[in-house]
Amino acid sequence: MLASFGRTALVKAADVRHCSIRGRRLKVLCGDRIRFLPQGGSGIIVDLLPRSSQIERLDSRGRSEPMAANVTLLAVVLAPEPRPDWFVIDRFLAAAAIKDLPALLVVNKADRGIGDLLAPLEGYAQAKVPRLVVSARDPASLQPLRDALRNGNTLMVGQSGVGKSSLINALLPDADAQTAALTRDEEGRHTTTTARLYELDAQSSLTDAPGVRDFAPPAHIRRAAERGFAEIHALAAGCRFNDCRHFAEPGCAVRAAVAAGAMDPRRYESYRRLSRLYESFQDT
Ligand code: GDP
Ligand code: ZN
Repeated sequence: MLASFGRTALVKAADVRHCSIRGRRLKVLCGDRIRFLPQGGSGIIVDLLPRSSQIERLDSRGRSEPMAANVTLLAVVLAPEPRPDWFVIDRFLAAAAIKDLPALLVVNKADRGIGDLLAPLEGYAQAKVPRLVVSARDPASLQPLRDALRNGNTLMVGQSGVGKSSLINALLPDADAQTAALTRDEEGRHTTTTARLYELDAQSSLTDAPGVRDFAPPAHIRRAAERGFAEIHALAAGCRFNDCRHFAEPGCAVRAAVAAGAMDPRRYESYRRLSRLYESFQDT
């Protein structure tokens, strides 16, 4: 399923068609594999096949809302301009790690120079998050990204202005046609959908979720924040208390590593902020 417009959805079969959704209970997400009954040039979605994964986003109260299905990789796009909000990036990466979803950092606008970003990016090497440096304006730079996207459905997120649309346009074989179809509902009206799926080839796709600032794991997961930071999770084995939250406990190996310069203090600060955020959700 390519895009959802409420009670209708854009479906890719042998062709691309708008279908209605049978019943009120059936909730179809971008990326879902569905069964439908063809009816002339359209059809009725009657069933969903099981999902291999489901991505939710969190609203301001910590409630989750399903957004996309069958995502296999998270690509977090950033650029020298606009300046990265590292906490937002850490939240995306943490949400992926907690869901055991592989993630990739895509540093775009390399043509503008990324020297300023190299120091903050060091922390992600420690967290073992792979990184690709690309420019949407330089086709040759995109080949490693194409390779990384092959045979999967990648969810692309990032702050507005980092170049997500430009990258999609540069990567898609028939960008104009796909973009036109995906932003119009059955009546041809322009719509802003929560997510849409673009086909790179028969086995590979990109899901764009415009306006998504956050997607997140269910807040009830125990020690979610720690699981979102691989390097902290690894260090935590050395803490004196096995329920250490790495805030002010004695014998904390995480804080010791930060003090010794062996752990990125900025990533640690993100961990603290995310911990407090998840705790605030649990209180409500
Ligand atoms: P989005 O909001 O993430 O979809 O970002 P856009 O794709 O709309 O890009 C925002 C601005 O950055 C536009 O003016 C693009 O032309 C520009 N841009 C995107 N990619 C690159 C790039 O690789 N290099 C440079 N110099 N500019 C880029
Ligand atoms: Zn600790």
